[in-house]
Amino acid sequence: MPHLIRAAVTDPSRGVGSDPILEDLVLRALKPGEILVEMKATGICHTDFFAGSLSPGPMVPGHEGAGVISAVGPDGDKTRIGQRVALTFDSCGECPRCLDDDPAYCHSALELQFGLDKSFKRSGGDDVSGGFFKQSSFATFAIASDRNTIPIDDALPFELAAPLGCGVQTGYGAITNELRPTHEDNLLVFGLGAVGLSAISAAASLGLKDIIAVDPIAERRALALEFGAQKAFSPEEVKDGAVAPKSMAFTLDCAGVEATFHDSIHLLAPRGTMGVVAVPPPDKPISFSPLTLLDGGRKLVGIVEGGSEPNSFIPDLGRRILGGTLPLEKMMKRYAFEDFATAWDDAKHGRTIKPVLIF
Ligand SMILES: [Zn+2]
Ligand SMILES: [Zn+2]
Repeated sequence: MPHLIRAAVTDPSRGVGSDPILEDLVLRALKPGEILVEMKATGICHTDFFAGSLSPGPMVPGHEGAGVISAVGPDGDKTRIGQRVALTFDSCGECPRCLDDDPAYCHSALELQFGLDKSFKRSGGDDVSGGFFKQSSFATFAIASDRNTIPIDDALPFELAAPLGCGVQTGYGAITNELRPTHEDNLLVFGLGAVGLSAISAAASLGLKDIIAVDPIAERRALALEFGAQKAFSPEEVKDGAVAPKSMAFTLDCAGVEATFHDSIHLLAPRGTMGVVAVPPPDKPISFSPLTLLDGGRKLVGIVEGGSEPNSFIPDLGRRILGGTLPLEKMMKRYAFEDFATAWDDAKHGRTIKPVLIF
């Protein structure tokens, strides 16, 4: 059943970190437990920019796919063929975290998202790796698993479903599943990309009256106010004292650079909690003194995929979009898949917050 597909391929032989280019490839046959999804839309997420560094050879990134199940692997559930699905992160289903419906913290999470396989071949016979987040969704067809294909409502357009699988659930779930502020708490969010804006929407839905949004880009600050923040500042304004030290119950760092990491801790009130969803590259570690945490008993929490249990959380986010309380449209822009290069460039340079490719 291997068949011809078209995919965006990043290839170190074209230069380390070079942009993905569309190519025609052959996709391998399905194995047991796998699901073939005909892609209808896929978001571009920040982690895609680092995907190429995982592989010494060419590979296909993409991890916010949505589409229709077109085949199942040997012994698979054929009734799933034709189902509309959003693709998300993969999990093993057998470890203690998975058995506790907590798959975002699956013991095998890293190898399942980043351990690539030889999914594709070029016409000359060279292998191209796939399996990124068990989807590699920058392709007309993707091999996913039974566990990371989440059925979605018929009324939810694919292009709105796609970003739910990573960026949106990461930000929204960081607030509703992990930090869980009450309506009397205040919250400061650094970095107003798809993750930060989703976090603000979530905090607004919980009734928080003091949500502060921080980003260097003025248009993003204005957008944060539309998503429910009450105040928005540039990082310079924060540095100049716009936010009092030791005043925040919760901070969420969606920027992942050294300055925002330190500020996110120092702005915490005693007993405050900082959520970490974005980090700098592994070769640029941040150093800080643990004394900062002892001063006031502050907590630092690492948050993956918003602590989501995607089978319930992604449909829930879909209902919020259809109900008008999660205005995803305001942060996204549609591109034809054939115009991949423009979408990638716009994402890389921050011109579009959430580019979504339409197949
Ligand atoms: Zn697991
Ligand atoms: Zn992502």
